[in-house]
Amino acid sequence: MSFQPPKGTDDILPPESRLWRRILTLWEEMSGRYGYPLMLLPVFEATELFARGVGETTEVVTKHVYAFSDKSGRSLTLRPEGTAGAVRAYLNRGGQAVWKGAYSGPMFRYEQPQAGRRRQFYQVGVEYMGVSSPEADVEVIELGWRYLAAAGVEVELRLNSLGDDACRPRYLADLRRFLDEQRTQLPDSMVSLIATNPLRFLDSGPEAIAEAAPRFEDYWCGPCGDHHRAVLGALEGIGIPYTSDHTLVRGLDYYTRTAWEYIGLGLRGAQNAVGGGGRYDDLAKTLGGKPAPGLGFALGLDRIAAVSTLDPEDEIKVFVVSETGPTEALYAATQLRAEGVGVDFDAAARSVKAQLRTAGRRGVPHLVVVRGDDLVEVRRGGEQKQMPLREVASWIRESS
Ligand code: AMP
Repeated sequence: MSFQPPKGTDDILPPESRLWRRILTLWEEMSGRYGYPLMLLPVFEATELFARGVGETTEVVTKHVYAFSDKSGRSLTLRPEGTAGAVRAYLNRGGQAVWKGAYSGPMFRYEQPQAGRRRQFYQVGVEYMGVSSPEADVEVIELGWRYLAAAGVEVELRLNSLGDDACRPRYLADLRRFLDEQRTQLPDSMVSLIATNPLRFLDSGPEAIAEAAPRFEDYWCGPCGDHHRAVLGALEGIGIPYTSDHTLVRGLDYYTRTAWEYIGLGLRGAQNAVGGGGRYDDLAKTLGGKPAPGLGFALGLDRIAAVSTLDPEDEIKVFVVSETGPTEALYAATQLRAEGVGVDFDAAARSVKAQLRTAGRRGVPHLVVVRGDDLVEVRRGGEQKQMPLREVASWIRESS
């Protein structure tokens, strides 16, 4: 019998995983630099959290969740996204005035797998609670933008504002009216979508009709319009280019005001969004907590890895070859590692020739040959030198 990974899941292994590790390390560095500390959150939550938070009429919740009952009969769901859980954690901590956090990890959606669409996929993201100013939006948008640039992913930033309670009902009423008039031209699947989630028509309905539909910008209330203009002004102020897109609505129900997507220029077709985010000023209240504004984004690592131009270096700089058996190789490797050098060796007691072959396959730049005396031989390219082991680490550092 042989097992395969479940449909829509992948084993991410070396050498590809080297790029993933680099992408994740870069994420830790950059999210930290913007003041978003690490959050480690459960990968499953109460099913009700997603139904309430993400929205009962969104496809993510109606069709795409992995929900199950545990042995006590609780209904649990593998998280399809990170925001609902993060806001739950924020509320459980008492809903501090200002709260920032970053996460990374697997998400689960029962979708038809294809390139760029998996059932287990990976996201990094941030959440920023308690601040409603446009500068918070711009900080978050900019972090995603700079992170993607640093990861070697070229994107276009598309932006929209989805209004708030004050202006959205009037917009939705007019949008529904408009879509009702188009009903005869629409496929059945669209008719039910319009009934449950008319906003989604804008990004998934026929383009010509979506283009002709009423535009949110003509309905923004004063504060929503001011907020959006301030976001655009500050983006211009810090040199982040953007495209306004009145059909951008995002797939999750909780967004208010600013919503955006990073579209990967190297990705084709429907799976070209590398990530997206938005404000969700009503989410804390929807989840039964103290009202608090918030916003965040999530980026898909599978798609980032597919187009990233980062060329991650192998951490291993030295391969130790022993002429006297693996114990001596272990001692030498241990010493060099303690001095901060990336080292590997062949722990199987094999011939020098076999060890050299392993080293060759790894493409390691330095060989250190130990042979049972005080001096070791260091080889790099055509160069060879004898020196005490304790000098090897600084020699490599100074001469690389
Ligand atoms: P969303 O949470 O739907 O806004 O998705 C944010 C990002 O996560 C997307 O832009 C994708 O990069 C990634 N993503 C979402 N769903 C999937 C999936 N099924 N497979 C791979 N990546 C995904």
